[in-house]
Amino acid sequence: MLSESEFLKITEEIYRFHTKRAPGIPIGVAMVDLARQHLGPIQGKLNAISETQACLSDVLQVMTGCTMGNRYLRVMKDIGRYALTLFDREDGRGVRVSVDLGKIDPQKTPELYKFFRRERGEEVEKGGEAREASGRLILEEFQRIGRDIFRVQRVRVRQHGKPPMLHAAICPECGESFLQRNEMHRRCDVCAGEAGYYDLVED
Ligand SMILES: [Zn+2]
Repeated sequence: MLSESEFLKITEEIYRFHTKRAPGIPIGVAMVDLARQHLGPIQGKLNAISETQACLSDVLQVMTGCTMGNRYLRVMKDIGRYALTLFDREDGRGVRVSVDLGKIDPQKTPELYKFFRRERGEEVEKGGEAREASGRLILEEFQRIGRDIFRVQRVRVRQHGKPPMLHAAICPECGESFLQRNEMHRRCDVCAGEAGYYDLVED
């Protein structure tokens, strides 16, 4: 478990990486720390799953070295829960840490309560001073009750092995190399009109 000074140091490091002092960062640091502690030693490679794209994915990348790039981190952003799982790629043994909303008292920690229910209101959504003040308050409240708000579950990750490496093919239209899902997949998704995210602009 991280000491108080280690906790603050890693939180500052992730604020820099994340480029914002979001309250989800220190909360995430405590969650990852808790998951590591419960997981204990592992046989294979440490892998991680984030159930949200917000904050937690950055906390995981800095604290565990599981990144999007090395594919040890999977971000299942469509789930949208503020939760993570750390697991052993060898056998899928893992620990899931989530937030137990029932343990967040609206009287004792009102800002934290609103934060996890996304009820902080328009002023805070807009950013600026209101958002910063809210962030400071959330942190104070969190430090007061700390890890009591988390739920820890032992899990077995279903598809825990090394993800399959797809074959590369050359798209006949753009001439670029892309990853081919199967034999029927001949053109890249952009040329096939399924993933066009840009329009070309003339110089
Ligand atoms: Zn193409």
